[in-house]
Amino acid sequence: MNAQFAHKRPYQICSNCIMDTSDSNIVFDDRGWCDYCNNYHKNIVPHWHPDERGAAELAPVIEQIKKDGQGKDHDCILGISGGVDSSYVAYIAKEKFGLRPLLFHVDAGWNSQQAVNNIEKLVDGLNLDLHTEVINWQEMKDLQLSFFKAQVPHLDTPQDHAFFAGLYNYAAKNGIKYILTGANYSTECVREPLEWHYHATDLRQLKDIHKRFGTRPLKSFPLTDIFTYRIFYRFFKNVRVVKPLNSIPFHKESAMQELADKFGWQRYAHKHYESRFTRFYEGYWLPTKFGYDKRRAHFSSLILTGQMSRAEALEKIAVPAFNLDDVAQDFEYIATKLGLSVAELQALHAGPNKTYKDYKNAMPLIDLGTRVLRLLGVQKAVMR
Ligand SMILES: [Zn+2]
Repeated sequence: MNAQFAHKRPYQICSNCIMDTSDSNIVFDDRGWCDYCNNYHKNIVPHWHPDERGAAELAPVIEQIKKDGQGKDHDCILGISGGVDSSYVAYIAKEKFGLRPLLFHVDAGWNSQQAVNNIEKLVDGLNLDLHTEVINWQEMKDLQLSFFKAQVPHLDTPQDHAFFAGLYNYAAKNGIKYILTGANYSTECVREPLEWHYHATDLRQLKDIHKRFGTRPLKSFPLTDIFTYRIFYRFFKNVRVVKPLNSIPFHKESAMQELADKFGWQRYAHKHYESRFTRFYEGYWLPTKFGYDKRRAHFSSLILTGQMSRAEALEKIAVPAFNLDDVAQDFEYIATKLGLSVAELQALHAGPNKTYKDYKNAMPLIDLGTRVLRLLGVQKAVMR
């Protein structure tokens, strides 16, 4: 391992999943189980019912959505990336629940051809309406470059922020009361720690990084902050978020197969690789520059939910997520798109690493909010 990210504590890996000390705050118990595993059994399993009980709990919510949507073009909105989770929600919302969702897609400039194809296939196959919000590329590029220059691990913030803010702002503005999401415990019960994947909706951080490294104002880029959508939209605009995948059996492999059989949907090499940027960033940049491999959290979720064996996960994680030919090609593609030379992008890769703590952030307030949500029993996954 590169000395740059040699972690201070002795190396340890969980004996139940494959999370390890690349999460510098991970805690192990006497059995060698990590706190993600313990949290899963203590706080998630007892409240998670992907069975008849979940279906019975979801049914009145679906009925309410239909009732509130009477006379409107759509009764809910669903952000769609082309990935498996949101695609599967689109399918069950229409075919299994009889809802009339508006599919909402944010094009932040990094869609893979495969993602575009998958979205088209779903829209055609399900006969649903699609609204695409195209982000001004000059602003996107400027913000994206700012994050590269800030040397933080969370380079996916500009893209995630655009997805999230675009959707929430649209829903609030158009009086849409229900947002369906593909969020789920089945593939995401082990959340990536904050040092790998900082809150994309911390507007204070986004603005500080852009102020220091950006060169043009963000005039049309969709912005929101964690407090606006968690408090204002929820309690004052009455926007409700519904996560149907937590109320039904959801297995990644069979979901992908079902989508492939029904719509000709194509699978990706790995979770989130529907974006060409994310594939490069998660597959190459993050592991080689910071020592963070997000597959570790993704595979651990699948282990805990019985969709992958620990042995298989260990075998897969031992092989890098990228092959060298792709990296050379992606390096050139990303650099060119950002208006950099390959050498300039390589220099950024070799630069000194920073964390979200090196910039202004709203962490103290977010921590407080998370503690309140935990007390209220809303927030179940480990967040740090
Ligand atoms: Zn574990």
